[in-house]
Amino acid sequence: MHDFQYKGDELYCEDVSVKKIAKEVGTPFYLYSYNTLKNHFRAFDSAFAGIPHLVCFAVKSNSNIALLKIFAEEGGGFDIVSGGELYRALLAGADPQKIVYAGVGKTREEIRYALKSNILMFNVESTQELFAIDEVAGEIGVKARVALRVNPDIDAKTHPYISTGLKTHKFGMSTKDALEGYRIARSLENIEVTGIHKHIGSQITQISPFMDALERIVALIDILKNENLNVRYLNIGGGLGITYKDESPPYPKELAAELSPVLKGIHCTIIFEPGRVIVGNAGILVTRVLYTKRSEGKTFLIVDAGMNDLVRPSFYGSYHSILPVDKNSNSHKIVADVVGPICESGDFLAKDRVLPELKKESLAAIMSAGAYGFTMSSNYNSRPRVPEILVRDKEFYIIRKRESYEDLVRGEEIPLF
Ligand SMILES: *Cc1c(COP(=O)(O)O)cnc(C)c1O
Repeated sequence: MHDFQYKGDELYCEDVSVKKIAKEVGTPFYLYSYNTLKNHFRAFDSAFAGIPHLVCFAVKSNSNIALLKIFAEEGGGFDIVSGGELYRALLAGADPQKIVYAGVGKTREEIRYALKSNILMFNVESTQELFAIDEVAGEIGVKARVALRVNPDIDAKTHPYISTGLKTHKFGMSTKDALEGYRIARSLENIEVTGIHKHIGSQITQISPFMDALERIVALIDILKNENLNVRYLNIGGGLGITYKDESPPYPKELAAELSPVLKGIHCTIIFEPGRVIVGNAGILVTRVLYTKRSEGKTFLIVDAGMNDLVRPSFYGSYHSILPVDKNSNSHKIVADVVGPICESGDFLAKDRVLPELKKESLAAIMSAGAYGFTMSSNYNSRPRVPEILVRDKEFYIIRKRESYEDLVRGEEIPLF
């Protein structure tokens, strides 16, 4: 459920008219519902209420500090993948003891920053990284808590670009290498073996890949126990999918019902890293039709948002539902490509889409754009990045303002020669 609903013919976010926001801030813009964000977080968190756990929101899915603050206040932690994300999380008031840090390419500077911030643990993806963390921790005189990221070789049955748990992927270590990795970790002076981690991919719409991966990890935990290597945390990653079109992914409580019996038997604190399932359907991208054009029997709606604002359709071929902000119940349907202003044929938001006839100047809502929307946006074609707006009840707040032309060239310099 989300809080983008029609009142009469008009689309609202909670109690605020989307059209009214567009009038005040211009288009395009990202729009989030506070209520939806909070409810999605709570739905996930409460689903696992029966087991000791920590929900670490995946910052890369939406990193606006106003959103991070909401999750921090709900008691959530954060899953980060860079020093920049650590900076954001801390700025939003995150408890460092609820931050976990994944990623195959952590630099020494990033490792140092995380150690000095006293984060809960690193999710380590290679033995070389383990040595690097040990060294940096030694330099600053602290012990680094680590989990090894295990690649369980499970097909997440999702888009190949967002699948991460097969042995051909760059992520984590095979079960065999992880066992060796744990033995090495134990021998390192500045490392404290704390947990075990896996994350098999994103937009997963079935329970079975989670279950299969969990069983492999549990088997490994048993082997580790036999070697007297006891982990206190089991991090099962993120990846739960959402409905973009007609998918019917399990609800968090359904996933919890299946996984909990196994999780309970492990006697670990369970860490979850949901991103998309919390923010995906809590945000939309609002855009305006600039022009309509017919050529060779095709209809194009040219809108003011492009692939630089929302890259998912171009990058993954993703489907985003498109709704008129003003629903004219009489309007007839057309089939159109919804395209942006970018000079690339790959710049589209929808192809051959059946839509109510949207005329020049009408507003459209690109639904389910809260995850991997703004965070993947760029300045391509020198387009200033769009503002982000948060609605709570009857009020809206600009949580990131529209970039200016000055912002575009910030830091650039023409050499004196
Ligand atoms: C991207 C990522 C997540 C979040 O994935 P979602 O599909 O958005 O839930 C969690 N953990 C790790 C390690 C990730 O890379």
